[in-house]
Amino acid sequence: MSDAELVLRSTRVITPEGTRAASVAVTAGTITAVLPYDAPLPEGARLEDLGDHVLLPGLVDTHVHVNDPGRTEWEGFWTATRAAAAGGITTLVDMPLNSIPPTTTVEHLRTKRRVAADKAHIDVGFWGGALPDNVRDLRPLHEAGVFGFKAFLSPSGVEEFPHLERGPLARAMAEIAAFDGLLIVHAEDPHRLSSAPRRSGPRYADFLASRPRDAEDTAIDRLIREARALDARVHVLHLSSGDALPLIAEAKADGVRLTVETCPHYLTLTAEEVPDGASEFKCCPPIREAANQDLLWQALADGTIDCVVTDHSPSTADLKTDDFATAWGGISGLQLSLAAVWTEARRRGHGLQDVVRWMSSRTAQLVGLDPLKGAIAPGRDADFAVLAPDETFTVDPAALQHRNHVTAYAGRTLYGVVKSTWLRGQRIVADGEFTEPKGRLLTRRP
Ligand SMILES: [Zn+2]
Repeated sequence: MSDAELVLRSTRVITPEGTRAASVAVTAGTITAVLPYDAPLPEGARLEDLGDHVLLPGLVDTHVHVNDPGRTEWEGFWTATRAAAAGGITTLVDMPLNSIPPTTTVEHLRTKRRVAADKAHIDVGFWGGALPDNVRDLRPLHEAGVFGFKAFLSPSGVEEFPHLERGPLARAMAEIAAFDGLLIVHAEDPHRLSSAPRRSGPRYADFLASRPRDAEDTAIDRLIREARALDARVHVLHLSSGDALPLIAEAKADGVRLTVETCPHYLTLTAEEVPDGASEFKCCPPIREAANQDLLWQALADGTIDCVVTDHSPSTADLKTDDFATAWGGISGLQLSLAAVWTEARRRGHGLQDVVRWMSSRTAQLVGLDPLKGAIAPGRDADFAVLAPDETFTVDPAALQHRNHVTAYAGRTLYGVVKSTWLRGQRIVADGEFTEPKGRLLTRRP
């Protein structure tokens, strides 16, 4: 065996070539070799025998709202990264909005990095934001290391992050395409939204009717046309409408540089089961019907949808009122995303290998971190989650690590218990016990 400080041995290691019994050698935080299960231990190496627990690459979650600084009563780097670590996530990329300031200038990025620096239990990167008035800030932000730029096509929910109408969207896209950056988009058409029936109150059916599939489909259609014209790289955030899938599949087949994500809540929760008044289930676009969910799973299976990310977007509990029209829209699922997706995936006949592809490999690729993250392979960071896939637990919101103990998954019984999480060869959480923060702040690789 090659030199190693640490060897993790499991009968089930998820590698790019498949799941097998293996010994994973680690030196100085990097995977140096994936060896046969019974390879002799190098002298001085410490053995971590995981038995039948599954060793998978740490998840890379590219859609998290940490809200720090500015709305730290909603969430923060300390609590969010602990929740992520407890759920098997070893890298997150923070969304540019809901913090104050938003990440829309280099100075604001510096502020965010300063705040995150000593609180990050896992690795943290940053998205920038594209606003109607910051086109000139985009290239400097790109050079300062943001992974891409988020834009809204409809109102974002916070006044400091206005959405882009047609002209500003085209200008931002052209500027980002000029340095071959990535534009990530909240795609709901504001005009379709404002012409949808709107009724306030606790009925989920009314809320669902106010955010129709058609609003997503129209916005995505427009986005595809712009991306095609500029040969721009565009990523559709949190796809919920299954009706947009043929459009997406066709664009991809045509060579449009388009990627698409969806979220655990669209894959595991359905409109039919949301109780009236239960705004912990409110997010935009909304959780839709069971038949729509089947389309999303089919699209994950055939590759039309690339990846699954949490879109963890918490607020304080008092903003989750029983009026769906005015309650804060956002679902808290950071710690539960792996278990939630795995529970439904296994029911539908998918393996953990698929879950790893959707939640680690493809997300690492999306942000260009795939030389370091997203796989158990030599040369990658020794970031792991150790999972007991057949063990279950029942979600107790009070036991979760994120700041406000509200979640749409309360009371659900899920498969997949994360036994420990490792960052660059160091165990950062095991059985609810955390080390001091060891995360690094990441920048886009040139
Ligand atoms: Zn979001």
